[in-house]
Amino acid sequence: MIAYFVMELGLEDSMPTYSGGLGILAGDTLYSYADMDIPAVCITLLYKKGYTLQKITSQGMQLDFDVPWDYKRYLRRLDLEVEVFFGDKRQKVICWEYWLRSKGNVRILFLDADVEGNDPEIRKLNGKLYFDDGIYRLRQEILLGIGGYRVLKALGYPIHVYHMNESHSAFLVVELLKEFSSPEEVKKRCVFTTHTPVPAGHDRFPVDVIKEELKAYDNIDWDKETVDGFVNLSVLASRYSDKVNAVSHKHLYVTQNIFPDIASVEYVTNGVYHKRWIHKEIQELFDEYIPGWDENPILLQKAYDIPSEILLKAHNRIKSELVNLVNKETDASFSDDVFTIGIARRITPYKRNDLILRDIDRLIHIGERVGEIQIIFAGKAHPKDTMGKEMIKRIFETMKIIRERTKALKITFLENYGIEMAKLLIAGCDVWLNNPKRPLEACGTSGMKAGMNGVLNFSTWDGWWLEGGIEGVNGWGIGPKPSWQDISESKDEEDLEDLYSKLAYIIMPTYYRHEDQWVKLMKNSIATIGAYFNTHRMVSEYISKVYKIGLR
Ligand SMILES: *Cc1c(COP(=O)(O)O)cnc(C)c1O
Repeated sequence: MIAYFVMELGLEDSMPTYSGGLGILAGDTLYSYADMDIPAVCITLLYKKGYTLQKITSQGMQLDFDVPWDYKRYLRRLDLEVEVFFGDKRQKVICWEYWLRSKGNVRILFLDADVEGNDPEIRKLNGKLYFDDGIYRLRQEILLGIGGYRVLKALGYPIHVYHMNESHSAFLVVELLKEFSSPEEVKKRCVFTTHTPVPAGHDRFPVDVIKEELKAYDNIDWDKETVDGFVNLSVLASRYSDKVNAVSHKHLYVTQNIFPDIASVEYVTNGVYHKRWIHKEIQELFDEYIPGWDENPILLQKAYDIPSEILLKAHNRIKSELVNLVNKETDASFSDDVFTIGIARRITPYKRNDLILRDIDRLIHIGERVGEIQIIFAGKAHPKDTMGKEMIKRIFETMKIIRERTKALKITFLENYGIEMAKLLIAGCDVWLNNPKRPLEACGTSGMKAGMNGVLNFSTWDGWWLEGGIEGVNGWGIGPKPSWQDISESKDEEDLEDLYSKLAYIIMPTYYRHEDQWVKLMKNSIATIGAYFNTHRMVSEYISKVYKIGLR
């Protein structure tokens, strides 16, 4: 049995316990586990006020709201209670279950310390996800790691592999060190997946704070786990894991650079759950022309069996659905027959969400000379990310300027990006634009979702695209293509120039003047991206490369 620990989980919008990539990936992984009948149980936290609901004023200011939800309608409370110490406070922890049912059944346990009798500060831990990175975050991580271990034990699960997804659950090793006689015995049972490409992304806490909050647990010598006065949870997780893995081939090199002391890092490139992300219209074509694709997505290699006009028509129906949404939610007045670019992801400086708007004269010129352009932005800035929020404001200001100057270029922003909106965006645009600063994208997954719907990727050579992208065949790259070892950062000017010139000289001319060529690229995209970048393939790799420690 695999215990899959993760801080956030994105199954559906009505269960708002996720923020972005990590949570969606966790959901996709569990769906594949269930389909593939992999024995697994997931441990995560219940957030009764969700992550954040985004509204944007006409001035472009992001406002953040709580997302209270009726969790009792979705989850069943277990008749079970364990104890966890926070400092010297002994607190009760309960849990709620949710089942994913397919060929196999995967149980998900949502931990909850918001229980009558508990300290008010501890009860707040089940309020919001990623609310704060101080003591609140540390305590949420104690709840996840230690509470999670205790709940599994109380339920009598025979766990062979503890899979820490990101280091948030690393305190689990504190419990394992008590259970087993030596660090070697603990190591035999743990694996750690790092999802972060930047040193600042790894949680760390001052050792004195850790000692105080975890003083009830005396089976670990914190001084030995300390570097420069801090305990870094990624270092902690990797010291007690038999296997450490990165989430793309490129990310392997980036990780080795951040943690040169970790002896061996492997990689398993992320995937997406094809049955969730391929649009219903496209699924119907696959059912007809590629029977069996859902159980065995490798068959998507046969995308060439779909007649071109039928694929194009299906894509245009989805695009029309997207255009209707844009026209209902905004006053952008989009059209069905205009080249449409989608840019949707968390809004934060390294993602450079607004890169394409940096030279609006040039972009307007392309719109007026080469062909009309529609651009859809979506994404939330973390409530405390002021730079991200400023970027949203700049996008709104640029939007107004463009509206006064031309009709050949239309830009819009859809509020409150989430799972349902993503499903339509990644399938309904013509091109999916992703231009993060290299080498800061650990993997990225939305481009995989787009690619398997026949939406063409236009992306920086980073993360998964370095493995999946074939220039001019299933999409296009932006900027220079680095070697695997090259971890230098990309330059904005250079990337921007490449972005505009490929758009004007290659991508848009193909779209507007060579439809037959365009559909061929769509099929290449489905065949090469759908067949490989799915969670069925990813889970198989986890079993053969990472989880095998549990089989020894
Ligand atoms: C897929 C997805 C993400 C992650 O996308 P990236 O390209 O990895 O940034 C985030 N949010 C939602 C709603 C998604 O569907």
